[in-house]
Amino acid sequence: MSEKRKFGVVHLVGAGPGAPDLVTVRAARLLAQADIVFYDALVHPETLALAERAEKVAVGKRCGKHSTRQRFINKRLIDAARKHAIVVRLKGGDPMLFGRAQEELDELTAAGIRCEVVPGVTAALAASAELGTSLTRRGMSRNVTFVTPRVGAGEAASDWVRSVRNADTIVMYMAAGQATAIAATLLESGLEPDLPVVIVENASMPNMTKWATTLRELHTSADRTTHGGPALLMIGRVFERVLRAQDADNEQDIVREVIAAAAFA
Ligand code: SAH
Repeated sequence: MSEKRKFGVVHLVGAGPGAPDLVTVRAARLLAQADIVFYDALVHPETLALAERAEKVAVGKRCGKHSTRQRFINKRLIDAARKHAIVVRLKGGDPMLFGRAQEELDELTAAGIRCEVVPGVTAALAASAELGTSLTRRGMSRNVTFVTPRVGAGEAASDWVRSVRNADTIVMYMAAGQATAIAATLLESGLEPDLPVVIVENASMPNMTKWATTLRELHTSADRTTHGGPALLMIGRVFERVLRAQDADNEQDIVREVIAAAAFA
């Protein structure tokens, strides 16, 4: 028997954007069979509970604190595959998007361990669903760019501005905390000031929030946009209707307040 055969398989599995019923059937089946599950901070407890018989190991990392831990995670995955038949590495959204999947896959493969990937619903698509807005609305957007301005320690500065300058729809991951600086950079690079911007936090979850504004106004509302949950910054003409709907809601609120005030007068 070859050395390789003695190892288990490591499955990189997408846990979806948060809601526990947005995992794939394949993900659920693998979780039920798993011997050990290494999971990220954003994974919902009910999703984790699908791994009934597995040992569960948090390798949680939220923004900014992760780089030192990646080597350690890789090593633990390799060790686990030497001991267990079914190892699951459960990652938020889709495991292959902005999730260091390639580092894990490369190291595992180099160690002679078989890997399989189970895709998941990425945050951008959950947000698109929540907003009822197609990211590629016909006649308005023929492309969508998933981008992050974030770079890891020791990496070259990101040229993200170049990649979004001509995009019809822009979805920015790990960016909402720097919304004001991003808006300034995009305005400087020539994007139109009245472009709609939507910030969606906790997409797919009951505590989802959304805030629509324009690139020009983004700096005035940046502080009311996020509450510490994962959030996306989405930019493009397709969000015009989200912005209009919010303005209409605000107007209704003002009318309601005026009527209430008049009733008290
Ligand atoms: N692999 C993940 C992304 C990991 S990077 C995916 O495919 O979705 C982490 C970033 O994803 C967060 O900073 C945030 O920008 C975004 N994110 C993840 N879950 C989210 C959610 N439920 N709502 C909004 N943004 C989310």
